[in-house]
Amino acid sequence: FQLPLIKNEPPKNYGPESVEREQLVAAYRELESQLPVAIPLGVNGKDVKTNDIGEQRCPFDHKKVVARYHRASSSDVQGAIESALEAKKEWENLSFTDRAAVFLKAAHLISTKYRYKLMAATMIGQGKNIWQAEIDAAMEIIDFIRFDCKYASELYSVQPPENSTGVWNRTEYRPLEGFVYAITPFNFTAIGGNLAAAPLLMGNVVLMKPSDHAVLSNRIIYDIFVEAGLPAGALQFVPGDAIEVSKACFNHYDFAALHFTGSTNVFRSMWGIIGENVAHGKYRTYPKIVGETGGKNFHLVHHSAQIRSAVVNTVRAAYEYQGQKCSALSRLYVSRASWEAGFRDQLLQEVKALKVGAPLQDLSNFVGPVIHRGSFDKLKAVLDSAATDSEVEVLAGGKADDSTGYFVEPTVLLSKNPKHDIFKTEFFGPILAVYVYEDESLEEVCELVDTTNAYGLTGSIFAQDRIVVRKLTERLRNAAGNFYINDKCTGAVVGEQPFGGARASGTNDKAGSGMILSRFVSPRSVKDTF
Ligand code: GLU
Repeated sequence: FQLPLIKNEPPKNYGPESVEREQLVAAYRELESQLPVAIPLGVNGKDVKTNDIGEQRCPFDHKKVVARYHRASSSDVQGAIESALEAKKEWENLSFTDRAAVFLKAAHLISTKYRYKLMAATMIGQGKNIWQAEIDAAMEIIDFIRFDCKYASELYSVQPPENSTGVWNRTEYRPLEGFVYAITPFNFTAIGGNLAAAPLLMGNVVLMKPSDHAVLSNRIIYDIFVEAGLPAGALQFVPGDAIEVSKACFNHYDFAALHFTGSTNVFRSMWGIIGENVAHGKYRTYPKIVGETGGKNFHLVHHSAQIRSAVVNTVRAAYEYQGQKCSALSRLYVSRASWEAGFRDQLLQEVKALKVGAPLQDLSNFVGPVIHRGSFDKLKAVLDSAATDSEVEVLAGGKADDSTGYFVEPTVLLSKNPKHDIFKTEFFGPILAVYVYEDESLEEVCELVDTTNAYGLTGSIFAQDRIVVRKLTERLRNAAGNFYINDKCTGAVVGEQPFGGARASGTNDKAGSGMILSRFVSPRSVKDTF
């Protein structure tokens, strides 16, 4: 069979007076009029209510409750696991074409019917502006699903090359034995969708625990998958307390995989719990652990770089979506020659011109709110300590305001101490740490880029000198799983740059590629003798 042509979803034009802008604003207003949305669990294809209600609040207007969602207890999760395992019997026996048809239809529904609703939910619930919501909830989600179908069909077609006389060797890509547990992040609606879609497509059943701060957008995705024909029970939607839901999953004999995007610390502690259980033989099979976690991503600007381009890319990478992408730029190493030849002045001019505010209030707002109180308080503490730290100079920003929403000014911190904590700790907010290096000490700066912290997610070099480009590319080969030459370190495109990092940044299985799909199958070699 041949899949329909797989292409990246194109962007729309939201210019003033455009139909697209009108439709988006209408969807946003409609959703706003329905708040708070009541969100039950989705267990065995049915809506299930519990007595335990959680609230998702709007990050740019924290008095506004976006969703009241039902939280699953340990026994609700237990029930969801049992019904997933029951649903598995049918789902895993469907042909790949049937499973792909469900997901290609889901992508089609998002593109044609739910695009603006999903964007609106991502804007109101997760604080994205139109363009950030679009590349996520209207483009990347569709790209993930469509390209997963393409990569899965390629994986299934990989077969042993040799057959001796009278023998036909085959590889069967069986789904995992058990269920997959997916924990979604708040920062990408698309990632939440793909954490469920990728294993489902390979014939697995999934329990999806949405981030407490993305329950609304994640529930819309769940509903779309069901509308597209996903059978009852193949995907179970179980919001709730992360520890309680996770424990119930990790304690189950049929726990087969963790599919995770979130913080390094949470991932490490989960791995610890799973590892302990593995050591005691608690599972039917060794669980697969697939995780994308933190980053402390870099730009390295060489004196041969084009300054304007390096500045613009730096501003975008550090401040789009308030620096809340795992891939966001948070440490900049810039040569003294570039810094003094205009980089400094242009950077500060651009950062000071960024407008901060709620997404639809003014469409030119570039920086929105950070996600919640915990994040705001942590970032505020970083700013407060920077203000009194003799080793740090605050070049721009530095203030935060939580009177209506969780707003943190885009901030530039400069330090002469390249081992300062601002180059080590992931802030997950709009704070950029800058170190100016002497032009002749490129090797020393490479060492800093490579070893100052434990992460290895994304990084960029800016240089026009091709010999330097080659040297840096080799020298920094382990510093980033996504490495960019003369471009920003954010914005990986599905089908173009498979995404993920190693070290403390994750298992580097590359979302948006066939590599990650191969983690959700358990191949069987079959020798058929005639
Ligand atoms: N794939 C996104 C990017 O390249 C980041 C994903 C994340 O934040 O987890 O910007």
